[in-house]
Amino acid sequence: MVSPAADKSYEVQFLELLKLEIPQAEQSVWLDGVHLEVTDGLARVIVPSAPQMEVLRSRWERPIREILRQILPGNSLGFSLEFGLEFTGQSRPADHAAPKELAAMPSPGTATGHPSSSHSENSREALQLRSGFTFDTFIPGPSNHLAHAAAHAVAESPGVAYNPFFIHGSVGLGKTHLLHAIAHQLLAQGHRNIIVTSCASFTNEFIAALSNQKIDQFRHRYRTADALLIDDIQFLSDKERTQEEFFHTFNDIYNREQQIVLTSDAPPKDIAGVSDRLVSRFRLGLVVQLEAPEMETRISILKRKLMLRDLYLEPEVIELIASRISDNVRELEGAVLRIESMVRHEGMEANCTNVQNALHEIFGQETRKLDLGTIEEAVCKYYSVTVEDLRSSRRSRSIVLPRQVSMYLGRQLTGCSLGEIGKHFGGRDHTTVMHSIDKIRGMILKDAVLQRDLETVEASLLR
Ligand code: ADP
Ligand code: MG
Repeated sequence: MVSPAADKSYEVQFLELLKLEIPQAEQSVWLDGVHLEVTDGLARVIVPSAPQMEVLRSRWERPIREILRQILPGNSLGFSLEFGLEFTGQSRPADHAAPKELAAMPSPGTATGHPSSSHSENSREALQLRSGFTFDTFIPGPSNHLAHAAAHAVAESPGVAYNPFFIHGSVGLGKTHLLHAIAHQLLAQGHRNIIVTSCASFTNEFIAALSNQKIDQFRHRYRTADALLIDDIQFLSDKERTQEEFFHTFNDIYNREQQIVLTSDAPPKDIAGVSDRLVSRFRLGLVVQLEAPEMETRISILKRKLMLRDLYLEPEVIELIASRISDNVRELEGAVLRIESMVRHEGMEANCTNVQNALHEIFGQETRKLDLGTIEEAVCKYYSVTVEDLRSSRRSRSIVLPRQVSMYLGRQLTGCSLGEIGKHFGGRDHTTVMHSIDKIRGMILKDAVLQRDLETVEASLLR
């Protein structure tokens, strides 16, 4: 039963984000009837059947924790996570068999689930590729330029260009996206015998094959693949037997000059608990890093994600989000989902103030409320001008720029109206304020120095 104090307002967002983690074909199997309840410091994931609970816990506990960290307020403070089993009226009875859809569901990466069937049947569905993770939807920018270009080259000439191709970078920067994009293109080019899986699935399949005496089949399938793409290879850490197995898999594929693509949250040499001989193999081809996207790329990504969801936001709102969320594209998506629910379900307008508050809920103290006076002080200090100058009518460049920056930040960080900002900064009217903000907005995209100045001032305000 739902306890009266429990807050269910995070549920929609939680489920949306979790869907991004779970292959589409499996979503209804594992997520049907799942609820989230949050009470002080405790997040309860409530699941209607034992198999669902087992699988969510064993396969997706990590992403579940990560999503909760992203969406719960005061996320840096931590919370406890609990899984609870509750049979609701409509849900299936307390059977311990897997849900019926499972029987028809292929195991990860296999063509049809029947080991005897031919590899040539590999398709997008069978591989459980994420339909949205293609090159088309990947927004390039300086932070991912090399990885993006190399991924293209690998997909164009597998086994030739860069082998293995190793992508690393921190969470939410597009590693899985690029891995799936390569697979989509390989399929489109007619390559059939390819395997796309996660390191965790590889490990589980290997262990299952050992205990079911199916190790020969397992080896045959992996070692004869024409391309092997494995996500999150850092999970090999400390798994000696799986590493040993993977070592031989790798060698067979590599020696046949077939393509290997790996992703990881760290560069090869920094993955702890992986044997040296594997690390040196990871480095045989090309190792590239995905970095956090710059402001301009974040804005493009946001615009694309909003467009896909048929949402329109004012440029200043988009900038507000892009300046708040700087190091994780998945969080940008989280913000879009939150705003979507705000607009569509809560009937609220997505203006600066409302978005500011929503982001505050999601990302906690980072978006602390600021007032114009505090912003003005910080800007004056940074540019070594006085508050009097800023509010005066002087038009020398050394004063105009800080004045415009103050108005821009005022609009971005406080949600005050143009009129209120004008009044604060020496009784200017709202068109002047709008002009100043537009000016900065235009410059920011071209002027790296200004961009850095703004980031520094903002960082000092948010400390
Ligand atoms: P990782 O595997 O590195 O943790 P993902 O590949 O799952 O990250 O990416 C997280 C989310 O961000 C995905 O929904 C992905 O589509 C999106 N994403 C990341 N980078 C980009 C980009 N450059 N353009 C468009 N979407 C991106
Ligand atoms: Mg990933």
